[in-house]
Amino acid sequence: MNDAKLFFDNIKNSKNICLVSHKNPDGDSLGSLLMLNEYLKNINKQVDVFVEGKIPYNYETFISKDTIKFEYDNIKFYDLLIVLDCGDESRLGIFSRIINNSSKIICVDHHVTNTNFADINIVDSDISSTGELLFKLFKAANKEITKKMAEYIYISIITDTGKFTYSNTSGETYKAVGELVDLGIDILQINNNLYNSKPIKIVKNFIQIISDIEFYYNNRFGIAKVTQAMLLENKMNMDDIDGVVEFIREIKEVEISCIIKEINSNEVKVSLRSKNDIDVSEIAKTYGGGGHKRAAGFTFNKSIEETKNEILGTLKTILGE
Ligand code: AMP
Ligand code: MN
Ligand code: MN
Repeated sequence: MNDAKLFFDNIKNSKNICLVSHKNPDGDSLGSLLMLNEYLKNINKQVDVFVEGKIPYNYETFISKDTIKFEYDNIKFYDLLIVLDCGDESRLGIFSRIINNSSKIICVDHHVTNTNFADINIVDSDISSTGELLFKLFKAANKEITKKMAEYIYISIITDTGKFTYSNTSGETYKAVGELVDLGIDILQINNNLYNSKPIKIVKNFIQIISDIEFYYNNRFGIAKVTQAMLLENKMNMDDIDGVVEFIREIKEVEISCIIKEINSNEVKVSLRSKNDIDVSEIAKTYGGGGHKRAAGFTFNKSIEETKNEILGTLKTILGE
């Protein structure tokens, strides 16, 4: 695998390395950042890891203090910038500035909408997660994966495959996870932290959001909304809203599920999920977003209601009678 050689040669030739991923972190962005950070620290590289947005509560226990920085001072230059789990520069948010302050950029990613913006693009849209892609690179280069690194790869894979249920879960994914388990990771403890640790207030808020689901097109489209008022009332943060759009997809008749999150009165974040063959990344792309076939998103400068009507209009040709 040429990619692996390129990847590790560039690391070898760099002293100062920066790791970034997309804003609003998820299991795969954090898992792959932390895994690579662990490796680079072990081989004595100077590493900075930047994340824009709040770390969701269920990942906090996996991150030791001061590992992640949330602000970049604009002065520091890097020999190498490694962008993980991010398909385009704009998704780097405030840290897209680091691109101009780095001698070389490598992107390791699995988004089908990746724009090949880096100097070296190691992109495989068929693979489950960026974590699995890193695993593959490490194996191809015969590099040791420690137990700690294995834990982080496992977090990437289990979260991006929806606990091994999505179609991106391949035989290779299961084989990789088999090796990770053999390295001694404690899957019960990791899974309990990831999935069985919801604060009561978050569950109550979830129920409130779910109770207002609307259905269209013969129940084939299900949509929920989160307003800032709702968050204020429940003393919640938008970053704490998770799993709603996947929950709606669990409904038998639903083919496409959606959640619209109000950022402010004129900006929303939309998440789309599909169950079968409808490619929601194509829909997200028409609004400047992206993602994968069955999980995609975009931001939109309209109110919740206007956004909902816009999406209903787009879906009419796909789901309408
Ligand atoms: P989310 O709905 O935020 O969970 O994201 C689902 C998938 O779509 C993830 O792979 C995201 O990286 C991708 N995605 C979400 N929002 C955007 C966006 N604005 N631009 C590009 N990709 C996005
Ligand atoms: Mn991600
Ligand atoms: Mn991912």
